[in-house]
Amino acid sequence: MAELPSWRTINHACIVFQPGNASEYLTGDWRSRRPELDKEKCVRCGRCWMYCPEPAILWDEVGGYTFDYRYCKGCGICARECPYDAISMVEECEE
Ligand code: SF4
Ligand code: SF4
Repeated sequence: MAELPSWRTINHACIVFQPGNASEYLTGDWRSRRPELDKEKCVRCGRCWMYCPEPAILWDEVGGYTFDYRYCKGCGICARECPYDAISMVEECEE
């Protein structure tokens, strides 16, 4: 099992020494709840995409929004901001 980072191994003050490596930090590991999209309710306004603090909402190949769970940290902002209640937050253990 990989060793988890600790205060002994992280950079002092979390300084970033290499530019452009934020994509390697998979914030989806933090998540206990995940967003699920009801495509019937979604009008593709893009509000969830604008408010998401991570690069976790993507435009998919069929012209709709989808989640990138590698980066979604489960904050629930997208669900709160969706004016059409198209996003629900569900516990990670649920199907
Ligand atoms: S905010 Fe809601 S309606 Fe708008 S694109 Fe996102 S999920 Fe769809
Ligand atoms: S739960 Fe948070 S991180 Fe995940 S897609 Fe919604 S706004 Fe983005």
